[in-house]
Amino acid sequence: TGPLVELRDVKVHFPIKSGVLFDRTVGYVYAVDGVSLSINKGETYGLVGESGCGKSTLGRGLLRLVEPTDGEIVFDGTDIRALKGESMRRMRRRIQMIFQDPLSSLDPRQSVESLLVEGLNAHGLAKDKAATAKRLREALAAVGLPASALSKYPHEFSGGQRQRIGIARALVLDPDLIVADEPVSALDVSIQAQVINLLEELQNEHGLTYLIIAHDLAVVRHIADTVGVMYLGGLVEEASSDDLYREPMHPYTKALMSAVPVPDPQVEDRRERILLAGDLPSPTNPPAGCRFHTRCPWAQPTRCADERPALREVLGGHRVACHYAEDIAAGRIRPHEVEP
Ligand code: SF4
Ligand code: MG
Repeated sequence: TGPLVELRDVKVHFPIKSGVLFDRTVGYVYAVDGVSLSINKGETYGLVGESGCGKSTLGRGLLRLVEPTDGEIVFDGTDIRALKGESMRRMRRRIQMIFQDPLSSLDPRQSVESLLVEGLNAHGLAKDKAATAKRLREALAAVGLPASALSKYPHEFSGGQRQRIGIARALVLDPDLIVADEPVSALDVSIQAQVINLLEELQNEHGLTYLIIAHDLAVVRHIADTVGVMYLGGLVEEASSDDLYREPMHPYTKALMSAVPVPDPQVEDRRERILLAGDLPSPTNPPAGCRFHTRCPWAQPTRCADERPALREVLGGHRVACHYAEDIAAGRIRPHEVEP
């Protein structure tokens, strides 16, 4: 199975406007600044990073809900940035999105039926009443909700059920790719696992491909085949989920991982905590060279501040954007104290 989606050097830069009389552009927010990745058919790609790293913008850029500034988005062989009007609308059906907070993304005055029909109408797929009714019941059944849910309103459901409605709403359009932006972060931990399991079941039954965006590394660990880590608009590491969690290689990923508690107290005691200095720099004025050099405990003079590291394959299938990935992995460069 080949790639369903390929992003090639995708950039999303938002202009910062100033001036009352003249709409002058005084700078840019470099929200996504040159990301290349591909997702195979039937696979789950987990995209993780702190808030503000550009992961949500990348997800929205893929659907052209925000227009990328540069790069290619190849979906099933077509560069979707070149599509217009009707052909883009047809493409939109194949890529559906699920959002973080099901309550805020669902209109509270609309019944579940009308929420589900809305998407079908937008694509001219609700012409036959009986066929539509069947389609709605099937979508609800697939997410574990009874047909009686159709006449109810979002507030009549729990958070987990509302996310199921959000999933049914995507599913009813029979998409190939689902972009899920923080699909479980508004839910209780016990409910999170149920929704993740449901997504996995649906993937197996319908051959779906997922891009799952999360700030929490633990959320994507089990569902993702491949995990990409973003920092300040760029992908800093990408590997199979197993490899990434077994041996994170980029200093930023190491720091993120060291902040996740380990249940085993013996392991917990022996672990090295990696503390990062300072705050996330502004995406308006990202550091030159390696964007992580202002906070990196392994940063070396002067290359890290001067030269932006490319994402390159360091081990089989394990890509890292760090000049010193091999030296760090082998312990030839030790972390130093970073001034807080
Ligand atoms: Fe740290 Fe330098 Fe590697 Fe960037 S390139 S992650 S600053 S060691
Ligand atoms: Mg899977």
